[in-house]
Amino acid sequence: MQDDRFRGAAVRTLPRPNRTYSEGRVCAAQGCGTKLSKYNKWQYCWQHEPVHAYIPRGKRKSKKRAA
Ligand SMILES: [Zn+2]
Repeated sequence: MQDDRFRGAAVRTLPRPNRTYSEGRVCAAQGCGTKLSKYNKWQYCWQHEPVHAYIPRGKRKSKKRAA
């Protein structure tokens, strides 16, 4: 009876079958008119995007050293 375990896994599937992202979209944040790439599946620009997958690029040498 292993099927019972897989039932929960089904929840991970995205409810949206439509994965097409139209062009010309803009950030959903108020006051932000940043255009979103059609490859961006989020509705926010990279600045307002939630922290779910934030990856700091480079520039991580020192942690703010107080002189
Ligand atoms: Zn934005």
